[in-house]
Amino acid sequence: MSLLRNLIALHRVDAQVRALRGRVDSAKRYLSTQERQVEDLEHQAQELSTQLRQLHAQVGNNQNEMRSLDERIGKIRTELNATTNSKQYTMLLGGLKSVESNKRDLEEQAKTLGEKISQVQSKLDSLQGQRTERGGLRDSAKGELDQRLTDVSERLSELERERARAASAIPPSELAIFDRVASLHDGEAMASVVTISARHREYACSACNCEIPFESYSRLKGHPNAIVQCMNCQRILHLEQVEEAHA
Ligand SMILES: [Zn+2]
Repeated sequence: MSLLRNLIALHRVDAQVRALRGRVDSAKRYLSTQERQVEDLEHQAQELSTQLRQLHAQVGNNQNEMRSLDERIGKIRTELNATTNSKQYTMLLGGLKSVESNKRDLEEQAKTLGEKISQVQSKLDSLQGQRTERGGLRDSAKGELDQRLTDVSERLSELERERARAASAIPPSELAIFDRVASLHDGEAMASVVTISARHREYACSACNCEIPFESYSRLKGHPNAIVQCMNCQRILHLEQVEEAHA
């Protein structure tokens, strides 16, 4: 086989390898997106749980303070009932009012804390719902990836062996050109030459539509063992009939 035919054979198997790898890669990408989102939701839930713990601790403090104020109020009331001294009575009453005002502040604080707790709790509940849902998506993405890996692994190693065989028929320097152009164009290393007008000797690259000089065309026609690249897109050119003859 000529170099060009070998290159076309390599290109065909290379494209299949890339397509199969692409299917696995897209499943991997999808899975990692789902994993990141699950992690993000877990992180948010953790923050809310911390917030909730802090709020509950504040509620505990508030209740302790409230109890100690109740004790003081009780004590002052007993003293008020017992006193006969009007000056002391007025003083105790003033003290009572101030402690009662502190208690009202604490009651207000307890109300605010209760509201905050229910807000944070409902956020956390909805987050946990999302986490469960996203976890399900992540698990099915994982299943899909495993399935794809199972589906393609055998075919992929078969194709990789075939690709290695096809590559071994091509001299190293030409193979290096192929690999470079293939990675440049995501596997599309080859392009055919389209005849625009044979009479006017006008030819174009089928991939990028740029003009192919007649000298390149005739070099390609006369030397099937030379690589001729499109000057614009670098793809390795071949004449349509080479491919047809091979197919
Ligand atoms: Zn081109």
